[in-house]
Amino acid sequence: MEKIMFLDIDGVIATNESVVGGQWALVNARQVQLRKIIDATGCKIVLSSSWRKWDLETTRQFMKEEGFWFWDLIIGITIRAYQYLDRTKKIHLSIPRGVEIKQWIDANIHSDNGKNYNRKKLGKDYQYVIIDDDTDMLYEHRNNFVNTKPHKGLTAKDAEKAILILNNQYLPAKDETL
Ligand SMILES: [Mg+2]
Repeated sequence: MEKIMFLDIDGVIATNESVVGGQWALVNARQVQLRKIIDATGCKIVLSSSWRKWDLETTRQFMKEEGFWFWDLIIGITIRAYQYLDRTKKIHLSIPRGVEIKQWIDANIHSDNGKNYNRKKLGKDYQYVIIDDDTDMLYEHRNNFVNTKPHKGLTAKDAEKAILILNNQYLPAKDETL
């Protein structure tokens, strides 16, 4: 089974514990938590963070230079879906990160280089976790989402939840009846 981690950086692996040049920088104690998830699940990483560059190779090199321990496990980056609807009127559309993640899954899990579309089964053919301090995901992502606290970053408890999700052992709380 293919296991994918959609990883945000700021508020997850980079926090205000370490600031370089006014920017949050990677914190090794957070990378230790990330290593636990990788060791327990064998997942690969797709970068959904604004740290991603215009292509995969540039992103891997950049992350390596920044001291990211798992740069060689990065197999993808999500698209930048941010759009100007009308440049002259400066109308722009902010696209939720969950949409960018859904696009990656559709293009890379369910289809073969954008050609044949074969819906793969979640929990059988693939499993994924989204780790992010923001919350602009989709409703369908709710049982695959680990929401970190921006100033704490990835904690041991967050790592445990991510491991359960990726190993198909996470039992979500029953959806509330509206
Ligand atoms: Mg963030």
